[in-house]
Amino acid sequence: MIPYKKAIELVLANSQDFGKEDITIEDSVGRILAEDILAQRDFPPFDRSTKDGIAISFSAWEKGQRIFKIEDIAAAGQPQKTLSSGQPCMEIMTGAVIPENADTVVMYEEIEIENGEASISANPNKGQNIHRKGTDQKQGNLLLPRGHNITTSSVSILATEGIHEPKVKQLPSVAILTTGTELVDINETPNPYQIRRSNSYTLQSLLKQLHIRSNLYHESDDKQLIKEKVQELLENYDVLLMSGGVSMGKYDFLPEVLENLGVNQIFHKVAQRPGKPFWFGTYKSKTIFSFPGNPVSTYVNFHIYFKPWLAKCLGVNIKEEFVTIDEEVESNQLTRFRLVKFKGEDETVAELISSSGSGDLVSLVLASGVVEIPSNTTLPAGSKLKFIRF
Ligand code: AMP
Ligand code: MG
Repeated sequence: MIPYKKAIELVLANSQDFGKEDITIEDSVGRILAEDILAQRDFPPFDRSTKDGIAISFSAWEKGQRIFKIEDIAAAGQPQKTLSSGQPCMEIMTGAVIPENADTVVMYEEIEIENGEASISANPNKGQNIHRKGTDQKQGNLLLPRGHNITTSSVSILATEGIHEPKVKQLPSVAILTTGTELVDINETPNPYQIRRSNSYTLQSLLKQLHIRSNLYHESDDKQLIKEKVQELLENYDVLLMSGGVSMGKYDFLPEVLENLGVNQIFHKVAQRPGKPFWFGTYKSKTIFSFPGNPVSTYVNFHIYFKPWLAKCLGVNIKEEFVTIDEEVESNQLTRFRLVKFKGEDETVAELISSSGSGDLVSLVLASGVVEIPSNTTLPAGSKLKFIRF
């Protein structure tokens, strides 16, 4: 058994780069950019009108002119037009290029048009209502750095730059293998001595949130069948996420099976609660997370091990979070992860959730995450603890 700190260190030390791939922009939200996105031209790319109205030369206004003959209309999507000499004006629409010789836009609300002439009722300022070329960004500026987690707003930037297939970090392919003779699939009716295998679907949906598609496999506690299945999955996937069969029970065959298959055990058992029997190893370029089957153990271990491992593989920094706990907390020789839920909107204070143990699925639903209580610690109410968000 190794301490939790050592375990997470070893898991992170076994991260790897899965390479890059091109994806379509519509599937890009939540993916990690694998290239810097630089502005290919100025933002905006030309002086554009921000209002519907007329474009004038301010000097004419300054000299006392109040009535401007309308010589043309500048619409969005047209090349730049030129205002003639003789101080006319041009109607202009939002998004249109400011005509040559014009430098000020007066909106329709501040003019009156009669017989092809516009008279200005307000007091314009020179240069108003113009979004100048390059004021947002200059050509060559870094718009999105590699490692950026693409959001709906960064999609606008990709689209503006004409990047319909951004290069993103490739994600590992994952097989979820659950074991346990007592487990039936969710569309089956369990006998009184059976339960449904909820962990399969929980892990699958947790992975889906991380944009990883996974396939589900299940074996009963049969050494030979488990061995054959693990062998097959090691050939076909980058990562094996397993639940069940790694504890001390007579039918917990996974440690032995993995050893027989030549899988490199990096550790088995961590001084933590829940999730103590966690088994972690590698096989060639493959990574194996074998979580104990108790639903809370699987869920917590996914968050405290798999997620940071994936973030490291993708080159993403997870920002550390802390919460204040409003009661005394303590641990024994094991690092303790306690389910907590936020008190209030600001998410800085949390309360412990009382749980009947690692099988208590309902306590999980209430939880915002877990706090980490280091081993052999008693902390007074009001202490700040490391928080891992669900
Ligand atoms: P194990 O780690 O195999 O000893 O399982 C520990 C407990 O978790 C047992 O009560 C199992 O029935 C339960 N369990 C194991 N796997 C799953 C699963 N996939 N879904 C729900 N419960 C499970
Ligand atoms: Mg089992």
